[in-house]
Amino acid sequence: MNKALLWISDLIFPNRCPFCSGFIPWNALVCPECEQKLENGSFCPVCGKQRCECLAGGFFYDGCAVARPYEGTVRKGILELKYRCGFNAAKYLISDVRDILDKNGYLKEASVITSVPMTPSRRRQTGYNQAEYIAKELSALTGIRCDFGLIDKKNTASLQHELSVGERKAEAFKAYSARKKHADITGKTVILCDDIITTGYTLSACAKVLKAMGAIKVYCAVLAGTPIGGDN
Ligand SMILES: [Zn+2]
Ligand SMILES: [Zn+2]
Repeated sequence: MNKALLWISDLIFPNRCPFCSGFIPWNALVCPECEQKLENGSFCPVCGKQRCECLAGGFFYDGCAVARPYEGTVRKGILELKYRCGFNAAKYLISDVRDILDKNGYLKEASVITSVPMTPSRRRQTGYNQAEYIAKELSALTGIRCDFGLIDKKNTASLQHELSVGERKAEAFKAYSARKKHADITGKTVILCDDIITTGYTLSACAKVLKAMGAIKVYCAVLAGTPIGGDN
């Protein structure tokens, strides 16, 4: 869209800060107050956890870039992205993720970007997949192409919050599989995008599928990370 059109569309659909919902200029992503307030934290660049779990092992991905802790202002922005089309949160946080991928040498190896898929019914419900949106933003920043035709997700019957940690892990690994017809990713390094990392089971399950399809390495790109618990 050109600038004049953006300016006009801003009059009709005013641009909002994803973290406080306040009005911001059409070309801004967040308000200056929220930018100051965003939570900081450091995550292990391999397992993606605030408290490294690399020694325990069992992750199928080779690295994980996480921008910020999933709490307070950041959490609010991610919820906007998930449920209310608050895309500015992804646009803003993905540049931090890109820098972490770059700093750890993950970016230069990668040739495909993909995302954690939703079930078709969930996708129809929400109208978009926030993880796919994150992947597209990362692709725009890096020039690495996206491929969303790699992994399928099927409905698993049980409600995640009623499951034990072990059951949740098993469910995650059952839910994802390789698409019947997909591009050849043999020997390629893939970046796998999602909004949040909690247990890491979802990312690990998807990474396992990608590796079984021939990917040599899988690096995750995630906007925010939570302590243990939750359903991701
Ligand atoms: Zn704000
Ligand atoms: Zn670690």
